[in-house]
Amino acid sequence: MSLSQELRNALLNILPEGSFIDSPELLRPYECDGLTAKRGMPLAVVLPTDEAQVLAIVRLCHEQDLPLVPRGAGTGLSGGAQPLSQGIVLSLARLKTILDIDVENLTARVQPGVRNLAISEAVRKHGLYYAPDPSSQIACSIGGNVAENSGGVHCLKYGLTVHNIQKLRIITPQAELLTLGSDALDSPGYDLMALFTGSEGLLGIITEVTVKLLPTPPSARVVLAGFDNVEQAGEAVAAIISAGIIPAGLEMMDNRSLRAAEDFVHAGYPLDAAAILLCELDGTPAEVEEGIEQVLALLQQHGCSSHRLSNSEAERQQLWAGRKAAFPAVGRLSPDYYCMDGTIPRHQLSLVLSRLEQMSASYGLAVANVFHAGDGNLHPLILYDANKPGELVKAEKFGGDILSLCVEVGGSITGEHGVGSEKIDQMCVQFQALELTQFHAIKAAFDPKGLFNPGKAIPTLHRCAELGAMHVHNGELPFPNLERF
Ligand SMILES: Cc1cc2nc3c(=O)[nH]c(=O)nc-3n(C[C@H](O)[C@H](O)[C@H](O)COP(=O)(O)OP(=O)(O)OC[C@H]3O[C@@H](n4cnc5c(N)ncnc54)[C@H](O)[C@@H]3O)c2cc1C
Repeated sequence: MSLSQELRNALLNILPEGSFIDSPELLRPYECDGLTAKRGMPLAVVLPTDEAQVLAIVRLCHEQDLPLVPRGAGTGLSGGAQPLSQGIVLSLARLKTILDIDVENLTARVQPGVRNLAISEAVRKHGLYYAPDPSSQIACSIGGNVAENSGGVHCLKYGLTVHNIQKLRIITPQAELLTLGSDALDSPGYDLMALFTGSEGLLGIITEVTVKLLPTPPSARVVLAGFDNVEQAGEAVAAIISAGIIPAGLEMMDNRSLRAAEDFVHAGYPLDAAAILLCELDGTPAEVEEGIEQVLALLQQHGCSSHRLSNSEAERQQLWAGRKAAFPAVGRLSPDYYCMDGTIPRHQLSLVLSRLEQMSASYGLAVANVFHAGDGNLHPLILYDANKPGELVKAEKFGGDILSLCVEVGGSITGEHGVGSEKIDQMCVQFQALELTQFHAIKAAFDPKGLFNPGKAIPTLHRCAELGAMHVHNGELPFPNLERF
């Protein structure tokens, strides 16, 4: 398939030179996001450099019924930015200016292509930072963070993206500019900004984000604790939280992932531990010392076999470096890995971990486990080799079983990576027909033509029915338009 000459010319007229790609070799880098197992080639990729160009592109797509897939930095892990063969990819990567830093009101106004880490770097001189810190923060864009409602190590205490933004400027599928949220902390009416956060590019294009900034805590220290078995580490997590302590971060890695990370960045992790916990306390020095004392006592009560405390900022950063590099580190263990993302109630951690081990043995595929343990957010990394016939399918089936297990124990099929094209079938497991119908109604209210990121995040009821997960009455679909893709 290719773009008609008329559409090609119209796009070229909107864009500055060097901002339109349709040659197959140059389209290759855009054929997938971080979920490399799912690929597709778009008709073209457009890289506007300002909001007016984005608006003109959206208007054209609306007039010509041309589907589009928004894209930030392409680090998403659920195929959200996976292109469609009948549509274009709209990259926001070149809108990367920090427009304003308001120290008095503790906010920054930024364009969607600004990297997450670049915000904290820009406001550091004012003693401020932006709290949500996905491990991909060096590369991922704030627009992508909003679209995925991204989390990270520090979200346990400081909240997800949705809790750390104040205002969004968006372009609707009908090419209208809309401001959601306000400069005040609360605004009347439906909370459309919250609805938009995590909507995975299905409802509109984010062209500006006002983020909330926080004062950098005066002190922060990390405890690294080793355990002889994973279940004990899981119990220690539950004990810390139920003692009323809210660490700035509470992360867990099993032996396979900690070994990989240690080999990669030499963070100083104990290689003989079955699992490690990283627990960060922040606040005034006195608060931190008190918290550390309580945490150490709890860790010892729950059988930790070793512990170490960061004694300098450099050591704190070093201890986190291993956790933050865990995914690429595990990538060195196997030709391919499949990163899952599910959430469970914290008290189910030990049970889920032992079920994971059983599943791993029955599928014959190894798993490395990395968790935002404090949030109950699991990231099992399934190791496989795509060159071995059938292994990818097996890894996907294993991943699906993990997500079903998360739902079975009262959790959810995603913690922070979104649904995208990856977990669309699991949505049929998580939700009832009535809930999905409401999701489609919201999608249709914003995007009646179904042009923005179609086929992602919300399964059609037919799809669920075909999977045997849902019954569709009389073959009727609430929004037949959305069946097109
Ligand atoms: C090594 C690694 C570690 C990671 N760690 C974490 C982690 O700790 N926590 C976490 O939450 N995620 C993590 N991720 C996943 C990923 O980085 C996040 O989902 C991130 O928010 C994606 O941002 P992006 O700019 O790359 O978006 P993309 O991948 O380009 O897009 C993601 C989704 O957002 C939509 N989108 C992008 N920009 C816009 C826009 N301006 N307007 C409307 N829709 C838009 C796309 O259509 C797509 O659906 C990790 C990924 C990797 C590779």
